[in-house]
Amino acid sequence: MSASVLYANDQPGQHPASWYAASANSFPAFPSLAGKATTDVCIVGGGYTGLSAALHLAEAGYRVVLLEAHRVGWGASGRNGGQVGTGLNKDQAELESMLGKIQARALWDLSLEAVQLCKDLIHKHKIQCDLQAGIIHADHRQRFVKGSREFAEKLQRDYAYQAIRFLDQAALQQELHSPIYYGGVLNLGAAHLHPLNYALGLAQAAQQAGATIYERSPVLSYRAGSQVEVSTACGKVTASYLILACNGYLDNLEPKVAARVMPINNYIVATEPLSLAQVQELIPNRYAVADSAFVVNYFRLSADNRLLFGGGESYSFKFPQDIPALVRPRMLSVFPQLADAQIDYAWGGTLAVTANRLPYFTRLQPNVFSVSGYSGHGVALATLAGKLLSEVVSGTAERFDVMTRLPNWPFPGGTLFRWPLLVTAMLYYSLRDKL
Ligand SMILES: Cc1cc2nc3c(=O)[nH]c(=O)nc-3n(C[C@H](O)[C@H](O)[C@H](O)COP(=O)(O)OP(=O)(O)OC[C@H]3O[C@@H](n4cnc5c(N)ncnc54)[C@H](O)[C@@H]3O)c2cc1C
Repeated sequence: MSASVLYANDQPGQHPASWYAASANSFPAFPSLAGKATTDVCIVGGGYTGLSAALHLAEAGYRVVLLEAHRVGWGASGRNGGQVGTGLNKDQAELESMLGKIQARALWDLSLEAVQLCKDLIHKHKIQCDLQAGIIHADHRQRFVKGSREFAEKLQRDYAYQAIRFLDQAALQQELHSPIYYGGVLNLGAAHLHPLNYALGLAQAAQQAGATIYERSPVLSYRAGSQVEVSTACGKVTASYLILACNGYLDNLEPKVAARVMPINNYIVATEPLSLAQVQELIPNRYAVADSAFVVNYFRLSADNRLLFGGGESYSFKFPQDIPALVRPRMLSVFPQLADAQIDYAWGGTLAVTANRLPYFTRLQPNVFSVSGYSGHGVALATLAGKLLSEVVSGTAERFDVMTRLPNWPFPGGTLFRWPLLVTAMLYYSLRDKL
């Protein structure tokens, strides 16, 4: 991707025309930065990472300035599948063999804390975002069912996690009326929500705690030093600490991070509102679902009974012209009963993946931090990242460093060639999905 990823696919300064934007709670616009400001902590990026960091730091008594290029929740945080999942992008058995049992356990505990933190913030700040319990992981191949059973048993046995249960095909069919799945797990500790309203609620809470938020204020560059200088077209912020919370939209603002964090586009459609009878024919208990395909299908019902169906990646810089043409066939393969349902909204978003799909927490300078690359697991983890960033700025690095110790490496080919190489790899895997 080029330096224009912030501007490649969307109207500058406006949320995309998603169902989320159409059903957003009312929220005031924040001003743009004009002139000079001095603060303790400057945060670049108004998604969950930046907003949660702003909230926690302001609550801890720091002066905070947050600079968002467009609107708060404009990035992945305002467009995603809304699934608030436990764990990371790798399951515990994989993490144990990669990192050992102690670190795998620490990561699991942090992931549970992340989910609980989202729920607590929603409750504490009275954020209206349709929070609802339960995510199903559904197996689209018979051969994956044994793994789902073992996964649920392992979490129950080794992690004392009783909120998950295995679903054989009959049990799955009761919860998910699709012909293509063979089994899976139901995780009642996980949840789903309206992602943009959650982001807007965090922004409001951060502002009420004392953070100053500027929108339509893209950061062009920063200069490190004991006092960091952060420049926009019309202003400059001088700060003791800088947090880069730009995820898939980072571009060249920090090439060291960009070499390890790859932007990827993913797409969602929303049907017209369905009747209650139709809802009963899809997911009667309204759980969210993510399936086992490499290019994952993820879907759930909205509060106004639309099916929100995500899936389909495109391996080019730009979103496709016709997003429904990409996503609707996937939706119909899962729910053929929706053949006549109209698609009312379709949108894309940019997330960030790392080479091993583990998030990338880093301290670039003693007073400059960056967290990104949640690899599709960012709703809960990015919220927690904000809290861990607040801890590290306050001088307690222990939990932040559990995350900085995760292995991470640059994509082969550096920022210039990583994209074509990743495209080749992803095309290979998405082809395997189809076979
Ligand atoms: C379609 C889609 C579906 C997803 N589904 C799920 C899901 O169901 N569950 C889940 O856990 N995760 C999901 N994710 C991932 C999740 O949304 C992200 O991991 C999470 O939102 C990351 O939050 P963030 O704050 O780090 O980044 P973002 O929300 O992307 O925020 C980054 C912000 O930084 C701003 N910015 C960047 N550069 C600059 C600059 N130079 N100056 C000022 N501002 C700048 C951008 O404008 C943007 O608003 C999905 C992502 C997408 C795109």
